[in-house]
Order: sequence, then structure tokens, then C-alpha cells
Amino acid sequence: MSKRFNAFRVEELDGEKPEYRASIIERSVDDLPEGEVLIRVAYSSLNYKDALSASGNKGVTRQYPHTPGIDLAGEVVEAFEDCFSVGTPVLVTGFDLGMNTDGGFAEYARVPASWVVPLPEAMSLKESMILGTAGLTAALCVEKLLQNGLKPEQGEVLVTGATGGVGSIAVALLAKLGFEVVACTGKQDKVEFLCKIGASNVIGRDELDIDNKRPLLKERWAGAVDVVGGDTLMAILKSLRHSGSVAACGLVGSTSLDASVFPFILRGVNLLGVDSVMLSQEKKQSVWQKLSTQWKLDNLEEMSKAISMQELEESLALILAGKASGRTVLEL
Ligand code: NDP
Repeated sequence: MSKRFNAFRVEELDGEKPEYRASIIERSVDDLPEGEVLIRVAYSSLNYKDALSASGNKGVTRQYPHTPGIDLAGEVVEAFEDCFSVGTPVLVTGFDLGMNTDGGFAEYARVPASWVVPLPEAMSLKESMILGTAGLTAALCVEKLLQNGLKPEQGEVLVTGATGGVGSIAVALLAKLGFEVVACTGKQDKVEFLCKIGASNVIGRDELDIDNKRPLLKERWAGAVDVVGGDTLMAILKSLRHSGSVAACGLVGSTSLDASVFPFILRGVNLLGVDSVMLSQEKKQSVWQKLSTQWKLDNLEEMSKAISMQELEESLALILAGKASGRTVLEL
């Protein structure tokens, strides 16, 4: 008899206006999509994209019923033609996991071998999911900023959406690398948390001068990581110091960018795009390796909380409402 397991399943209800309902159901591994590797999932993590998928956002997930979860870490249970040994600890992020392929909010997942990254030796399964896609993305942002010449002596580096998943890991990582990090947040009650994870200074969203229509603002930031997009990203571009860079990876505020060319042609600033989803296997492995060694964060547990499948719905709603902070790990 095939294995049965629990999965967090979102279904679309019939009606004039589509509605979505989540429940925990029992499934069989035979119902999982095709793929070379069957994984017993030990941990997953919660990301903004999961909250969109679980609430029926068709830009993320076209077909329901569906199991969200864009991250997972666990142990290989079966692998086609021995591409992985049984028992190997692995992690999967990105590609189509949790979007239109059943994801990590379940006790088992089956995926193509090309999506699977062996867990770095110096990292536990739980640590890999405290980081998850958010940690990978934050690391890619920091890497791009460094490649574009950012150095600690150049001055303050801004992180927006600082209490969120990508934001909080970016704050901690930049602080570890010796940068003076200014955390921008909408949550006044999280100043202590942000300072504890490495922020030198915490500012409110209103301090970014978003409504100022001047083509350039006072030069302030040597670099920035932005998860918000829209007017926030535009305000950052206008306040970067000469030759400074912003790594843009998110859209929680807006998908649009009403920019002028002045920051680029008068201050030589750089707008660096970051995508963690379609990275090559080699690139993913090298960033995970770095996160487990020279970029290893020693305050990961402090930045995260663990939840069970029963608590998923509530935690996903908090993310959609912009009220979550730090990283949330799903223990299976
Ligand atoms: P979270 O929900 O964990 O964090 C987002 C944070 O942004 C919130 O905690 C809040 O922080 C802030 N925020 C929320 N709404 C607004 C708003 N309307 N205006 C300004 N700030 C807001 O999300 P993640 O960290 O998981 O993801 C952040 C973004 O990055 C998302 O858009 C996601 O899609 C994107 N992303 C992109 C990836 C890529 O490969 N390019 C990979 C991973 C994520 P605070 O209250 O502190 O301001």
C-alpha cells in the first residue's frame, strides 16, 4: 500500500466570486507530481509568495486544489536511478515548487532531481529553513551589492521591509559583514528586535521622503536592499550616494516603478535586479555553502519561530497583512 501523509491543501470554491479554503487533508504519495526524487519533508518555511498562493493569487498559482510551500528541507526517501542516496539530507527552493507544483506544506514532496540541493555539511535542516528562500534572496542581494563595489567604510546601508523574511536576514547578514545597517520598518514596536539582529539605526517608512517629487534627494545611502518596490524604490534611487547600488528583489508595496533617469545619469547609481527562483544549481549550491560557513548567522534561532501545520493559516494571514516579523518555520 502506498504511503499516506498529511498536507495543507488549498481549494477553490465554486461561486460567482472565487473563494479559497485551506484544510489539512490526508494524501497518498501516488498523488504527488512526477519527479525523480521523493523527499520526506522535515521543515518548510513561510514566504510572502506562499501567502499569495494560499489566498488564491493566480499570478502565483493557476490551478487549485494546491499545496503551497516554496521551500522544503528533508531526507531523500526514493530517487530515480540513484541520483541521490536514500537518507541524504536535501533542500529545495524556487523553480516551480509551491507555485504550480505541490510544495513543502506537506509531509512528503516529489520533485525533479535538478531542483534538489544537498544540504551543506555545516547546516542543519532547520537552519536551512530558517533561512529558506528569504535567506537565499537576502544573500544574493548582499552578494550583488558587494560585486558592485559596496564597502563598509562607504557609509549607511538601508534595508526596507526590515522585519520581514528577506529584510531581517539582510539586516543580520550586512551587520555580520561589518556594515552600518539602517532598518526601515512600519512596525514601531520592533525596534528592539531589529537592533538585536544587527541594525545600527531604525527608521520609519515616512522617513524615506517618498512623497517628495524632486528628481534627486539628499545623498544618504551607500547601498540598499529593497523588498517594497514602487515609490519606495524610487525614493531610494534618488537618495543613493554617487555610484551607490540598490538590490531590488520585492514588490510588497507595488510592482510599478515611476522612475526618472537623473539618479542614473547624474549620480551613476546602480539598480540591481535579484531573482532567487531560476538560479542555476551551481549558483544555488555556492550561496548555500557560503551561508553555512563564512556568512553563517549565529542568531538564526532568535530571528525565527516554529509552527505546526495547524497554525499555518493564521501565520499566512499575518504575512498578507504585513504584520509578520522574522522568519517562520513549519515543523512537520
Ligand atoms: P515578508 O512578508 O516576510 O516581509 C515583507 C515586509 O515588508 C513586511 O514584514 C513589512 O516589513 C514590509 N511591508 C509589507 N507591506 C508593505 C507595504 N505596503 N509598504 C512597505 N512595506 C511593506 O515577505 P518576504 O520577506 O518573504 O518577501 C519580501 C518581498 O520579496 C516580496 O515581495 C517577495 O515576493 C519578494 N521576494 C523576491 C524574491 C526574488 O527572488 N526576487 C525571493 C523572495 C522574496 P516592515 O513592517 O518591517 O516594514
